[in-house]
Amino acid sequence: MWKRFKYGPGLKLVRLELRLSWPLIKYGKTLSNVPVLKWIIYPFFKHPCNELTSIPIHVNVESPDSVALPMKLVERLLAEIDDIFLMDECHCAGVKNRASSRLHIGCLALGPAIARIHPSHGRRISADQAVDHVQKAAAEGLVANIAHVWIDALAFQLTRFSQLLFMCFCDDDQCIYRSHMKHRGPSLGRTYKKLPGLSVQVDIQKCTQCETCVETCFMSAIAIEDNSAVIQDTCIGCGICISQCSAEAITMTIEDEDTMFNQLLDRVREMSNLPLRMDQNLEKNE
Ligand code: SF4
Ligand code: SF4
Repeated sequence: MWKRFKYGPGLKLVRLELRLSWPLIKYGKTLSNVPVLKWIIYPFFKHPCNELTSIPIHVNVESPDSVALPMKLVERLLAEIDDIFLMDECHCAGVKNRASSRLHIGCLALGPAIARIHPSHGRRISADQAVDHVQKAAAEGLVANIAHVWIDALAFQLTRFSQLLFMCFCDDDQCIYRSHMKHRGPSLGRTYKKLPGLSVQVDIQKCTQCETCVETCFMSAIAIEDNSAVIQDTCIGCGICISQCSAEAITMTIEDEDTMFNQLLDRVREMSNLPLRMDQNLEKNE
């Protein structure tokens, strides 16, 4: 009984919450296009309490200094964080397909707020163990997302929302956030932000106009124009289209490692008050 006061809800209750909220999130996105209704729905998806940045860990994109950079960025970020909690299962896969090979690639919850996560969800792990977990997700072709989303804090009853981030691992079939984004109203586009320093482009000589990428992109950020696929401003750099293009016409370019890492840390600071080791050391030395 004491656990009920010390921690938020256990696994069974959170599973139930997610099952019940799934249709609301699905239809909320679709109805966010409807006049009047959109003004009721928009606050639930609004920045800054709903913000995600994708890191394409499954794409082996190299920086000018030949490092597989997206994974390297994640490793460096995790090394900055003291409190890391690994969920035993992905709650999205748990609701949509429990037979999925990605069921046991759960989210990482980050920051002091994790102290209230019920032990039935998983366990605290070290940064090195977290990196091993991220590598498993990359091998499954999943995208990492850094998320500061109020529904996570609510579902797990984590009171210190400002000191909470989730790193989740998504595909387009099962993710509650990525699915149905094609049907969103325009105002919901701001939920996802592209990682600064990253860009995606199409080689028009290689593009066969097969439209696979157009169908694939969960943000509807690709169109066929003038005999080639063209990436639009709404692209958030998730990299899924790169792995789907059999002509290898889509590529990602990135800045150097330190510039991107500093931009990622700035993004984390904008989203939350998560204590970073680097900032704490600076404060101690002042
Ligand atoms: S999937 Fe590749 S080849 Fe097909 S339209 Fe897109 S960029 Fe062109
Ligand atoms: S264009 Fe490609 S990288 Fe950009 S959001 Fe769409 S699928 Fe992701």
